[in-house]
Amino acid sequence: TKWVYTFGDGQAEGSAGDRNLLGGKGANLAEMCNLGLPVPPGLTITTEACVWYYENGRKMPDGLEKAVTDALIQVGEIAGRRFGDPEKPLLLSVRSGARASMPGMMDTVLNLGLNDATVAAVARASGDERFALDSYRRFIQMYGDVVMGLDHEVFEEILEDEKARLGHELDTDVSAAEWREIIARYMAVIEEELGVPFPQDPHQQLWGAIGAVFASWMNARAITYRQLHDIPASWGTAVNVQAMVFGNLGDTSATGVAFTRNPSTGANELYGEFLVNAQGEDVVAGIRTPQSITEASRIAAGSDRPSLEKLMPEAFGEFLGICDRLERHYRDMQDLEFTIERGKLWMLQTRSGKRTAKAALKAAVDMAEEGLITREEAVLRVDPASLDQLLHPTIDPHARRDVIASGLPASPGAATGEIVFTSDEAVEAVKAGRKVILVRVETSPEDIHGMHAAEGILTSRGGMTSHAAVVARGMGTPCVSGAGGLRIDGRNGTLVALGTTLKAGDVITLDGSTGQVLKGAVAMLQPELSGDFGQIMEWADATRRMKVRTNAETPADARAARSFGAEGIGLCRTEHMFFEGDRITAMREMILADAEDGRRAALAKLLPMQRSDFIELFEIMKGLPVTIRLLDPPLHEFLPKTDAEIAEVAGLIGVSVEKLSQRVDELHEFNPMLGHRGCRLAISYPEIAEMQARAIFEAAVEAAKSTGAPVVPEIMVPLVGLREELDFVKARIDAVAKEIIGEAGVGIEYLVGTMIELPRAAIRAHAIAEVAEFFSFGTNDLTQTTFGISRDDASSFLMTYQQKGIIEQDPFVTLDIDGVGELVRIASEKGRATRPDIKLGICGEHGGDPASVRFCESIGLDYVSCSPFRVPIARLAAAQAAI
Ligand code: PEP
Ligand code: MG
Repeated sequence: TKWVYTFGDGQAEGSAGDRNLLGGKGANLAEMCNLGLPVPPGLTITTEACVWYYENGRKMPDGLEKAVTDALIQVGEIAGRRFGDPEKPLLLSVRSGARASMPGMMDTVLNLGLNDATVAAVARASGDERFALDSYRRFIQMYGDVVMGLDHEVFEEILEDEKARLGHELDTDVSAAEWREIIARYMAVIEEELGVPFPQDPHQQLWGAIGAVFASWMNARAITYRQLHDIPASWGTAVNVQAMVFGNLGDTSATGVAFTRNPSTGANELYGEFLVNAQGEDVVAGIRTPQSITEASRIAAGSDRPSLEKLMPEAFGEFLGICDRLERHYRDMQDLEFTIERGKLWMLQTRSGKRTAKAALKAAVDMAEEGLITREEAVLRVDPASLDQLLHPTIDPHARRDVIASGLPASPGAATGEIVFTSDEAVEAVKAGRKVILVRVETSPEDIHGMHAAEGILTSRGGMTSHAAVVARGMGTPCVSGAGGLRIDGRNGTLVALGTTLKAGDVITLDGSTGQVLKGAVAMLQPELSGDFGQIMEWADATRRMKVRTNAETPADARAARSFGAEGIGLCRTEHMFFEGDRITAMREMILADAEDGRRAALAKLLPMQRSDFIELFEIMKGLPVTIRLLDPPLHEFLPKTDAEIAEVAGLIGVSVEKLSQRVDELHEFNPMLGHRGCRLAISYPEIAEMQARAIFEAAVEAAKSTGAPVVPEIMVPLVGLREELDFVKARIDAVAKEIIGEAGVGIEYLVGTMIELPRAAIRAHAIAEVAEFFSFGTNDLTQTTFGISRDDASSFLMTYQQKGIIEQDPFVTLDIDGVGELVRIASEKGRATRPDIKLGICGEHGGDPASVRFCESIGLDYVSCSPFRVPIARLAAAQAAI
């Protein structure tokens, strides 16, 4: 097996196509080398080596060590130095790099190869002792933390302590002699805490670092990140070992990160940050606040610190050309890392840039219009799930803004919540149903769970490319970073801003689009869905075959869904209409009635309410299809549960507590999900279905008159398993239809169909289709009944299943294509065999999940139906599936 691929000096063994083997970083380093760009030489250890390592009890594969040693000789030849050589030492960076980018989740070690001897050689060769010692102390810090496992705060404390003692503010103020002192303290603390000395042997250092990178694939934050992003643990990470170039070699050296377009807005302008006399981790860690790369962005930021464009015009010019070239080569916005060593530019990374949904839309539309990509590619460039971000509210421009601090607009959207100072508190509070803003000096990958739980993230340190900013943008969570005016005292739980002291639990609002921090809750505006969003949606709509409907029963939801582009209602859950106001009382009277007469009397009260609901829905949907489902849940769901509630309700409707309790007991079920619900109710109490049918037809007659558009109600019978069940209920519906349509004297077309939510219904679909004019797959119940897993209890163990690798995704979120999907496919085929024009749709939660939508397209369903906020997601996903 070939475990190692080399690159450098204008050629590479791999290329961009080798992403799975070399990881994203390794493949792109190879590609940049092949393009002749200035890339420090290096080698990539394959992801296969990492997989082997985990399959063999964390052992390195045979032959790896020799392959690395050989490759390092070649790297050294290109760089003109030798690894471990005391005179001309080759120094290395060791970085992770998986197939999918996992920013900051795994480990990196820089300046490897330094020891007490080589540091002197580096000092002599560079003529800069201070630089050599600065590099050495960085190496000890990183290696001590990442490989030896000593908390990095131990080093930070020593450094802060020394700086305070010496009266220095910045690291760059520390002199060579002072670094020497600090290094001595670092060495001492390692021996003291770990009982072993810092390793002086470069080979030992190298294998320690490679092992640490492999091991970091399984650290807690990487595992969490993979779960959040559906990245399989089986992929493993590659390791990139590369000759060091130094951004910390004095004032003609620098390091930075850049995006070829603005990652927040998508604007076609180079966007980035750099630090003079620094190493890469200084920019990303957000310890020093970086400077703008271009003059334009410096001016826009109102900064008086010079841009790279001004400071190092030559390197800047070359960099600009490379940015342009890489964007054209990859035909996508790139995220780049570079270092300038004494005026010479080096490229350290390129990858497709993470961007906000807004930026993704703008860049996709622009690139299509620039002719860089096609419209179909533009549609494919936007992650449907990310559209969710755009559906976030923003602050009402007329709202009063009580600004208490300002930082960088790191991730757009506005968020309000209670202050919490730790990620664990954030998770706890959210579990208790509260909304929180996570407030940190800076975030680290250990905060990932808290960042995910929080509505918004606020940091007092760090730039637009700090950890907090990058991760928040990826999550679509509003974020303000680097709000330097804040004094955060996490220990005492206070935040001081402009003389105001806030405590944990106080409410603040973040405006991630301006960088402002506001006191209290602030009025918000709903998002605007025009512009680039509208353009991509238009291109998507022109591409997709499936229709997208919504699951809605309230007028507000139906209107929202229309504005998001829903083409009808795919599921109106009528039981939701029975819970409001005095309706529940009429419902309870119906349930408590002793005989049919009493039930009919109570149902007569519900009829006008249902009718007016349906009229409104038909009017909002103006001629678009509306699928109304007959009452589904068991009756006891409508009755009170505790003794206190029973007493209260008994008084309200004028029956005795005994009678009510008795009825509650009678209706009790051991397994309500498989109990007296769905069409079983309609069979026991046909008068309920009849009342609902009457309300639907009367409303249809009325709405057809008021809108002038034909109304074609689709009446859906839930939880059918037997064709005979549907026969029975359909006969009742038809009888009511005949009566009302006859009386009204207008022609109303209607369909009667069924949900397919039981395996038996799927298997017997050919017979059911003799009666049903449409099928709607209720994949929530179909998943529950196919797996035999209760949808209400699944969360307690499905997480464990995911963690143990038994399942990759929650089948209640993403359709289980192999099992549940197979039933959907079989039922579709059988239904069509009986009734070729049968309408087929899906209305379970999966209707708004992009992967499930793709499956629906593949088996030719006519539509998907999902909650209003997912309608745009489904429209885009349906288009992508059709390409
Ligand atoms: C379903 O079961 O998928 C469905 C849409 O119905 P409900 O969620 O109301 O049971
Ligand atoms: Mg159901």
